[in-house]
Amino acid sequence: MPHKTLLVLLDGLNYQVAEHAMGHLQAYVGAGKAALYQLECELPALSRPLYECILTGVAPIDSGIVHNNVTRLSNQRSVFHYASEAGRVTAAAAYHWVSELYNRSPFNAARDRHTVAPHQPIQFGHFYWSDHYPDSHLFADGEDLRLKHEPDFLLIHPMNIDDAGHKHGLDSAQYRNSARGADVILADYLQGWLQAGYQVMVTADHGMNNDRSHNGLLPEERQVPLFVLGDAFSLDPAARPRQTELCGTLCELLGVPHDKPLCRELLK
Ligand SMILES: [Zn+2]
Repeated sequence: MPHKTLLVLLDGLNYQVAEHAMGHLQAYVGAGKAALYQLECELPALSRPLYECILTGVAPIDSGIVHNNVTRLSNQRSVFHYASEAGRVTAAAAYHWVSELYNRSPFNAARDRHTVAPHQPIQFGHFYWSDHYPDSHLFADGEDLRLKHEPDFLLIHPMNIDDAGHKHGLDSAQYRNSARGADVILADYLQGWLQAGYQVMVTADHGMNNDRSHNGLLPEERQVPLFVLGDAFSLDPAARPRQTELCGTLCELLGVPHDKPLCRELLK
């Protein structure tokens, strides 16, 4: 059965901080209504390559999106492509690099910031370009898209956790508090999303290190959370999802044809 699906991509959120700082999400886990898994991000642990990895299921060395300054359209097929070609409605409130990967490149703020493009892979969008664009506003942008367009697939992608990590490092009150802040914002929306029938995944592209950066193999850079909430998920603690399986798993939830790997154990 097809499901409406919502992907929250909390940029730069390390697994250990997610595990201890996200009290609201963990309340769902404690109540048996969600599960938390640990993912190891693909390499390099950089944003644009991993947006591409999560949304297309293709690792950076294979997609060619190998660092953050590769500014071009993706030549892979993303969950936005699969969903829109199957007649589903797609939307994203996300950093402008997502618009560059799947709709139009380079990003033109006046043209692309607010996107209504029924023939593009991302049909409706609000895109931002300042890393300190408030998460509170970004979540409101996402909810605006959800209420106006009732998307079958919605990406919500805030940047403030990553921004705090680059300014203050992993082991800082600012970084941890930014994660706590995102969890509090999620508390405002989650119940409404679930009641509207959305299956929700909350994950991150990469983690953060104490040098205020990320790129390599340190566990704190590579280990990221995957929270899943909704009645289509198995919540099976034995599932071992990989980051390259998120795209295919999202397509399965949406009930749309795809040719990407998936984590069957995540689903009922
Ligand atoms: Zn970053």
